[in-house]
Amino acid sequence: MNTYTALWQKELAQAFTHPPALLDYLNLSPQLASSLATKNFAMRVPLAYAECMEKGNINDPLLQQVLPLNKELIEEQGYLNDPVGDLDCLINDCLIHKYHGRVLFITTGGCAVNCRFCFRRNFPYAEVQLTKEKELHAVQYLQKNTDIHEVIFSGGDPLLLSNRRIQGLILALSDIAHIQRIRFHTRLPIVLPSRIDSELIAIFNNAPLPIILVTHCNHPNELSAAVKSACLSLKQANISLLNQSVLLKGINDTLPILSSLSEKLFACGILPYYLHVLDKAKGSAHFDIPQQSAINLHQQLQAQLSGYLVPKLVREEAGKSSKTLLF
Ligand SMILES: *Cc1c(COP(=O)(O)O)cnc(C)c1O
Ligand code: SF4
Repeated sequence: MNTYTALWQKELAQAFTHPPALLDYLNLSPQLASSLATKNFAMRVPLAYAECMEKGNINDPLLQQVLPLNKELIEEQGYLNDPVGDLDCLINDCLIHKYHGRVLFITTGGCAVNCRFCFRRNFPYAEVQLTKEKELHAVQYLQKNTDIHEVIFSGGDPLLLSNRRIQGLILALSDIAHIQRIRFHTRLPIVLPSRIDSELIAIFNNAPLPIILVTHCNHPNELSAAVKSACLSLKQANISLLNQSVLLKGINDTLPILSSLSEKLFACGILPYYLHVLDKAKGSAHFDIPQQSAINLHQQLQAQLSGYLVPKLVREEAGKSSKTLLF
């Protein structure tokens, strides 16, 4: 048995899962959360993320991303359980092969933080666990499909896998001649920076294939000193760092916030990649903004920032061969 528990695993086990406890930590009234909303989708917030929130401010942009509210229970037309059509595309229970040349590899249903706007909130991802058998079948599929050049680990959050498991996956893929790159989509460097431990960095640094890591950061306040230090150590290990954000009403839908986010990401060694408009997941309508407002905001960002600091504004649509550019 593996008796060693890494620091990040201890921190994860101690994450806030009870809304009144988080509100109490923030000097806010415990009544401000909805216990009903956690029945559909639990709350989960690591202390490292809560530490970036402003005490006493119910409108804090980080708190608002994770706090269960009654608004989530309102049924809005057009907001669906599987807004991006992923369920139709699952191969061997863990691969989503929708786009040319690359495949999404779902490693685990879990995340360190449960973002209330996430399309995953209604997805039976919680049952997705990567067994050895599934991993074997996935690797066989990748071996057979010689037009796949990039494997994208996603979830849930793939960095919730142990270092040993991540190393095993990287080595298995490196043996497949046509795979040229490995990408990780993860929010862990942002919400639990202790996850980027020296062992993981060494695994990435010694990987036979180039590693790309796409963080998910939505607000400049998420980029604490600890997050910056974790990202810079990844960068020093020759990992390409990109970021995707979701445009969220009342959280990051202003020009000053989005431009500060891009500038601060760059200071952490990360280039902005995508700015997603919300996937219309059931329970997330209160985060949505009209598409035209998103386009206007993106144009203002373009007029203000160096070109490489402007993320591509995109929407994910079921049945398309790529993300849809909105400008
Ligand atoms: C977003 C996504 C990708 C990656 O797309 P890029 O444009 O290469 O970042 C791949 N597969 C699926 C199913 C996706 O949803
Ligand atoms: S998949 Fe990403 S956005 Fe969704 S809950 Fe997990 S960390 Fe948050």
